Amino acid sequence: MTTEYEVRLDRDRCDGIFACLVRDDRFAEAADGLATIEVPNDSATSERTAEMELVTTFDDDRVDAARQAARACPVDAISVSGVDGGTNTAEADDE
Ligand code: SF4
Repeated sequence: MTTEYEVRLDRDRCDGIFACLVRDDRFAEAADGLATIEVPNDSATSERTAEMELVTTFDDDRVDAARQAARACPVDAISVSGVDGGTNTAEADDE
């Protein structure tokens, strides 16, 4: 089943630790040494909402991978929302 959700990456907070990459391969290292989100196909759209903020909307079955990446990020640079109307960050998703 596919789900529509939004992955927000605050590159200002990102410290280039890359814990996210091993949880979700849509995260990648950009030329500036910080994380970025790769848009895999037309089921996703990406926009830059601020100088250092990237928001990508996905409609697929990989929300769990995105949530794992958000949980793994030590500086809470990643958040996932649009699932059950809530936001899943590292703190909000400790079940
Ligand atoms: S885990 Fe967080 S700090 Fe590390 S690269 Fe990914 S977004 Fe940046």
